[in-house]
Amino acid sequence: VRIDVDRDGFIAKVTPGGDADDGERLAGPCLPGLPNLHSHAFQRAMAGLAERMTGERDSFWTWRETMYRFVARLTPDDVAAIAAQLYVEMLKAGYTAVGEFHYLHHDPDGPPYADRAHMSRRVIEVARATGMGITHLPVLYCHGGFGGKPAGDGQKRFVNSPNNLASAITMLRDDYAADPQVAIGLALHSLRAVTPEELWEAVGAVKDMDADMPIHIHAAEQVAEVEACAVWSGKRPVEWLLDNAAVDRTWCLVHATHMTVEETAALARSGAVAGLCPTTEANLGDGTFPLRDYMTQGGTFGIGSDSHISVNAGEELRLLEYGQRLKHLSRTTAASIEMPSAGEALYARALAGGRQALGRPIGRIEAGHRADWIVLDADHPALAGHEPNTLLDAAVFAAPSLPVRDVMTGGIWRVREGHHRDEKAVFAAFRRAYDGIRSRS
Ligand SMILES: [Zn+2]
Repeated sequence: VRIDVDRDGFIAKVTPGGDADDGERLAGPCLPGLPNLHSHAFQRAMAGLAERMTGERDSFWTWRETMYRFVARLTPDDVAAIAAQLYVEMLKAGYTAVGEFHYLHHDPDGPPYADRAHMSRRVIEVARATGMGITHLPVLYCHGGFGGKPAGDGQKRFVNSPNNLASAITMLRDDYAADPQVAIGLALHSLRAVTPEELWEAVGAVKDMDADMPIHIHAAEQVAEVEACAVWSGKRPVEWLLDNAAVDRTWCLVHATHMTVEETAALARSGAVAGLCPTTEANLGDGTFPLRDYMTQGGTFGIGSDSHISVNAGEELRLLEYGQRLKHLSRTTAASIEMPSAGEALYARALAGGRQALGRPIGRIEAGHRADWIVLDADHPALAGHEPNTLLDAAVFAAPSLPVRDVMTGGIWRVREGHHRDEKAVFAAFRRAYDGIRSRS
């Protein structure tokens, strides 16, 4: 198969049986790169800092206290250094696009930077420099709990009004309009953090700019959140959203772990994407997403590495499937008659859901799409002897991480033979930043 790429990094033509001529022969099997639809980049530097007992029953909520203490210390330079390290790791792991759910907006003391979008720009520039395609999602965060409860001290760097956030989004859209590696969307932190009026105002503002703009929200990750939502509104979070917001294909509900059978069917029908983050959801003790029922109803999902406790696309897909096998005492739960390979079914669905949630032309090796792909290492022991019909099963289930050799995004090689061009310099800067963060603690 010959793939022609144009000057702007789009696939111009795909020709089965085309001649090699001036082409470069790829070193192994080629797949579309995976979208990582949910990331909080700064959290990569706190991975491993919250695995010790705190003396109470450790949960998402005790983890969150650790995160608040950590985030309070980060400078814009720290965040840029951490994001660069993360994006290099992601590219090497086979992720070629990220959805950056960005809520770290302001100065450590709370006031906004002179440019309200300063932190967003730093993260976007890092994505451009490392080669990561990015859908940047500035987060609306107004309150510390359901019913408009005031934000706490640990949340002061996150808080914006819908109006301020919409103007930051307008600026970012204008400034990056010419770069096909960058898209801008909107995130609502959660129903804990925005009132219905704030949600409607922000969504209305961005839909006026572009009806297709991606909208992401954390929903129903924790039982305590579901219970508090029911006390506040009489409804569960996913139920409330489906009843009160125009949830459609442009929406991504991140986690949606705790749903009734009715909510599961209704979310699937809405056309929205469920943003699943299996390693983080396991790490935080969130629970298991009802994947089997959701898929039976035709639901769409993608994967994200969220807290980045693990940056390993193969592990996300494998853990997603294994959670279902353990729960239902059966095998190949993601597979179907049409797609009997569990590895292929998981990979294909994560491509389609990731593409939809990130709102960019990615996830397919077809004309008009970004030239984003990974080349597997044909010499990796886990792939030895596999034909195409079991290749993805071997890559997902039988290797510790996807055996990625080379990675291209936007028509440019970013990873060759397992190495990113800037990995040494990026890691040195990350280590300096990390030492600084620890010395300030
Ligand atoms: Zn998250």
